[in-house]
Amino acid sequence: MKNDLHTFGWYAARLIPHLPKKVFQPVPARLLGGLAYLFIVTGGIIAISLFDLNFWLSAGISVILGFSFAGLGFLGHEILHGTVVRKHWLRDWLGAIAFLPLSTGPSLWIKWHNVEHHGHTQDEERDPDAWLSHDQLKKNPILKLIYRIPFSVRSVFGFLSLAVTFTIHSFRMFLVYFKDFKSQKRPKVLLEFLIPWSIWIGLLFIIGFGNWIFAYLLPLLIANFIVMSYIATNHRLNPLVPVNDPLANSLSVTVPKWVDVLHFNFSYHTEHHLFPGMNPKYYPLVKKHIKKMWPERYHEMPMWKAMYALWKTPRVYYQKDRLIDPEEEHLYDTLGRGLDPDDIRSQKKSKEKQDNPFLHGKKGMGN
Ligand SMILES: [Zn+2]
Ligand SMILES: [Zn+2]
Repeated sequence: MKNDLHTFGWYAARLIPHLPKKVFQPVPARLLGGLAYLFIVTGGIIAISLFDLNFWLSAGISVILGFSFAGLGFLGHEILHGTVVRKHWLRDWLGAIAFLPLSTGPSLWIKWHNVEHHGHTQDEERDPDAWLSHDQLKKNPILKLIYRIPFSVRSVFGFLSLAVTFTIHSFRMFLVYFKDFKSQKRPKVLLEFLIPWSIWIGLLFIIGFGNWIFAYLLPLLIANFIVMSYIATNHRLNPLVPVNDPLANSLSVTVPKWVDVLHFNFSYHTEHHLFPGMNPKYYPLVKKHIKKMWPERYHEMPMWKAMYALWKTPRVYYQKDRLIDPEEEHLYDTLGRGLDPDDIRSQKKSKEKQDNPFLHGKKGMGN
């Protein structure tokens, strides 16, 4: 029974009767947090540009800018899900402003994230954010070469790469999805891509390279790292699944309350996949009900523990519900399929278990 999978609609239908109506209303007050971040970002960039600050002061402001870039990104995410304002033109404008530091246009984000990632979460072929499978790896000679690097060295590089991955992935998504937009919408999508980059590259010429590093480049790397730390832990310890079941394919991490305030409750990711159209303000309530109704299915752990588990496990899926280190041929379990984050073990592929019902097409009653 444990391997039965259900769609997010199946869970949502059972949770809705327990939730008050107001949780489905947009929450425009979330914009106040965004306004605060905007003041900090503008003030920080002006201070670095105009005043001849010493290294430590500039570096300190840079870190605050990085946290603010990330915070705005999290707000942009909920704005573009339509949970802050309902009017589409306003949603897109506010989303564009919030995503400006990360240079992701609203039309691209809605296609990439709302439609493809939410619609096909942890689907090997269709989720643009799903990590690659062993079969995909075998077809890619460059990746095969990268995976020859010893696992421990790869883990270090994997973590360092979190500081650039969002920007690179966003750029890739633009190349992948641009052709999918109707020809009359493409100029808008292109402009949404070019305007943010023009602003940040323009800033380089206005304030000079030295200041630009502190005002933009370093904050961008920090924001990438923060945003990617969540994105990496959201799904990458979970199995690939044939049914988009948020309790099977997502992980909610826990962080101190003040971090949830700064990051607009982005840690509640399973709740988010159940109700992407609900403002994250209400996710603690949803969590309470999920833990009451399906405690054995729900995955939750502290952020640091999830990061440690990522460090200790390879990032190639093997037959959907396990991870494999291709070089050593060591297999690791995923969440809900035997992975114990407190005791991560691997097994030689030649000794793999035969009796895995999940692998033999036993799907749940998804609808
Ligand atoms: Zn997700
Ligand atoms: Zn989302």
